[in-house]
Amino acid sequence: MKRHDLIVIGAGPGGYVAAIRAAQLGLDVACVEKEAALGGTCLRVGCIPSKALLESSEHYVVARNRLAEHGVRVGSVELDLAAMMKRKDKVVEGLTGGVAALFKKRKITRYAGQARFTAPRRVAIDDADKTELEAKHILIATGSVPTSLPGVELDGDRIGTSTEALAYPEPPKRLVVIGAGYIGLEMGQVWQRLGSEVTVLEYLDRILPGMDGELAKEALKLFKRQGLAFQLGCRVTGARVHGDRCVVEREGDEPLECDRVLVAVGRKPNTEGLGLDEIGLTLDERGRVPVDDRFATAVEGVYAIGDVIRGPMLAHKAEEEGSACVEGIVTGVCHINYDAIPGVVYTDPEIAAVGKTQEQLEQDGVEFRKGVFHFRGNGRARALAQLDGFVKILAHARTDRVLGVHIIGPRAGDLIAEAAVAIEFGASSEDLARSSHAHPTLAECLKEAALAVDGRQIHA
Ligand SMILES: Cc1cc2nc3c(=O)[nH]c(=O)nc-3n(C[C@H](O)[C@H](O)[C@H](O)COP(=O)(O)OP(=O)(O)OC[C@H]3O[C@@H](n4cnc5c(N)ncnc54)[C@H](O)[C@@H]3O)c2cc1C
Repeated sequence: MKRHDLIVIGAGPGGYVAAIRAAQLGLDVACVEKEAALGGTCLRVGCIPSKALLESSEHYVVARNRLAEHGVRVGSVELDLAAMMKRKDKVVEGLTGGVAALFKKRKITRYAGQARFTAPRRVAIDDADKTELEAKHILIATGSVPTSLPGVELDGDRIGTSTEALAYPEPPKRLVVIGAGYIGLEMGQVWQRLGSEVTVLEYLDRILPGMDGELAKEALKLFKRQGLAFQLGCRVTGARVHGDRCVVEREGDEPLECDRVLVAVGRKPNTEGLGLDEIGLTLDERGRVPVDDRFATAVEGVYAIGDVIRGPMLAHKAEEEGSACVEGIVTGVCHINYDAIPGVVYTDPEIAAVGKTQEQLEQDGVEFRKGVFHFRGNGRARALAQLDGFVKILAHARTDRVLGVHIIGPRAGDLIAEAAVAIEFGASSEDLARSSHAHPTLAECLKEAALAVDGRQIHA
């Protein structure tokens, strides 16, 4: 039996950040990970490889279609998919190796294998030595896994999830994406840029469920203009491989033939094989580990964070929870402001949001004022030749406090950081409007949108 102060199960962004923070705070930390590489879904088959492919595929499109506008002539542009995939794998390797180096630096003991509870403060690992560990505190950070739909048979190849879509051997001629959330749209856009005919099927009558409706509407318009096809209000009843094709069945419509299907209908908390029964820990109705506001479960000494608990399934949310949880254990202070956690879709155009949507405010009966500024009125956007999209700021009608910021357009994912800080610090739209923003930058659109809350925008 090996003893530590804290055992972290899972080395995704939640688990590895918790382990590092706990080691900084002086705990003797162990981390158990069943995959060979550290970094979890995010680094291995999520955020990082998808962004690497989005970046590479964007270069391909820019070289083909947009350089001429800048007066740059190139010869014929060809796709070298193998090189693109190799680069993606290298980016992933660099980062997962980086986490291993950080573990070493912080003297975190790494165990390879699947961890299973045998008692509230004990876990067994399925490694060759049948290692058993004991700790005062155990943190479940086992993340999530993709889900499917009834009748949609995942074959791990042609009918697959984002994991397969990150490594198709060639662009499928026709790709059907089921689900218009951020994962379906990002991966759909990668393959559309690389030459696939992409059709996105979505059950709801809109894309990007949960995001501000005005943003989603603008995004749909711009994606369609790029050549992505959408069928909204479409109920998929099945998908199967049939000879050398895939067939997708839709309620009230003809079956749709294609070469590959990407199922992107969501993810579910991953608690399989964790032995939660052994410690009497029951899950909620959606299969999540229930926790209190200090991330403690109903079993003393056992905590949970990240995708395996409630809240948005996002890497940075898992990271914040990882740090907050161990800070709570060691110092007693545990705090997260969920209103200030941004969400980003890394498509072109980028889409980013923090705080409340307009629909949420309307539903809650909160009176607000709205300031909108379009990128086409911004000098830097013109220099970049990226004029689509806008910044929208929602501020409380009486106090002027910033309640929500929604951006669609160039570098929205970077611009949203200012808005997240504003919300975290309880800023008013007047605070944003009075802050000097360097010229010419895209960030000036935030200042202009803040001025627009009061009808004082200059460049529109
Ligand atoms: C295609 C894709 C793109 C994404 N893009 C983004 C993005 O751009 N931005 C963003 O914020 N989020 C993104 N996400 C979501 C993000 O990856 C997750 O929210 C994040 O990884 C959750 O972190 P986590 O630590 O909770 O869990 P995970 O990253 O899932 O890590 C859990 C780890 O636990 C391990 N594990 C599970 N059970 C056991 C066990 N019993 N014993 C030992 N180890 C175990 C797993 O192997 C895994 O490594 C994306 C996801 C996908 C699929």
